[in-house]
Amino acid sequence: MCRMGEIDMKHHLKGLGAAAFGLCAAMFGTQAAAAQDPVIDVHLHAESVSAYGPPGQKMCMEHLKYVPPVDPVKENMLQTLGAWNRNPGCADPIPAAASDEALMRETIAVLKKRNIRGVVSGPPETVAAWKQAAPDHIIAGRQFNLAREADISADDIAAEFKSGAFEVLAEVTNQYAGHGPNSPAFDAYWAAAEANDIPVGIHIGGMPPGAAYWGTGARAALGDALLLEEILIRHPKLRVYIMHAGMPQFERTFALMQQFPHVYAETGVMQTVMTRGGYEEFLRRAIDAGLGKRIMYGTDQMIWPGMISRSLDLVEATDALTPEQKRDFLYNNAVRFFRLDDEE
Ligand SMILES: [Zn+2]
Repeated sequence: MCRMGEIDMKHHLKGLGAAAFGLCAAMFGTQAAAAQDPVIDVHLHAESVSAYGPPGQKMCMEHLKYVPPVDPVKENMLQTLGAWNRNPGCADPIPAAASDEALMRETIAVLKKRNIRGVVSGPPETVAAWKQAAPDHIIAGRQFNLAREADISADDIAAEFKSGAFEVLAEVTNQYAGHGPNSPAFDAYWAAAEANDIPVGIHIGGMPPGAAYWGTGARAALGDALLLEEILIRHPKLRVYIMHAGMPQFERTFALMQQFPHVYAETGVMQTVMTRGGYEEFLRRAIDAGLGKRIMYGTDQMIWPGMISRSLDLVEATDALTPEQKRDFLYNNAVRFFRLDDEE
């Protein structure tokens, strides 16, 4: 009971803080984890460990600073980057889970331990399996890419949503297929999302180094939040959040969000790949831009379950946000955007 209460109690007892919340947990006998303030991670993945290439890839904190400079004549770029992915060069890399089963088990264990609910994207059958394994912690996302899901129409998406198969259309990764947010090929999907009140999370911004050479059409230039502007005008009732906050073109994201006060952004992968100083600067700039009520926390955990705790530890420790701003970022803003208060 107190699980539903985690959301509700938090809402109704706003101001009473963790003490009352802990009391709730004790009264209703929920696990000790509930003593931690609830967190919503709006950017998680439920995948196979082989979904991102060959096994053995590791992730560093401050990952981008370890990207090796490549000589395009003397080296095969994708080979060099592949080797780097297995040995990224930091002292304390985050290992990938050993198997698909371990990935689900380890991810769900940390969600429970840290009192996190996550919007999870992935193959529908994988998301459904994870949701079944931990219904209290999984909000079902619906992954979408115009190339990979070429046979899924906008009507299909609307029908899936109405059937309850998913709750959030995310992660939309059209940028990897050469389509910007304003691509005419996606317009029918925006229209379906607006008509059916489907929240949408779209990848805008950072991709792994070398992605433009994968042959999928991925382009950095399409990672521009301002490309959403005409879409927001054409579909004024869309509920959309910018995944990765348009990293690293934050100025463009802030310009859009200042003009469109219903647009949110989330910080998937930023905690992990940016330098700590750069990430904290992002948070401060978002606050300075007046966006403290519309930035949401996301990890973009893919195959490295350790990313979840390392990311949350970093946010909990930073002084770039006040305690109140942190609660908004980690929880309240997502509750508002996804209307989790409306849940029965
Ligand atoms: Zn993404």
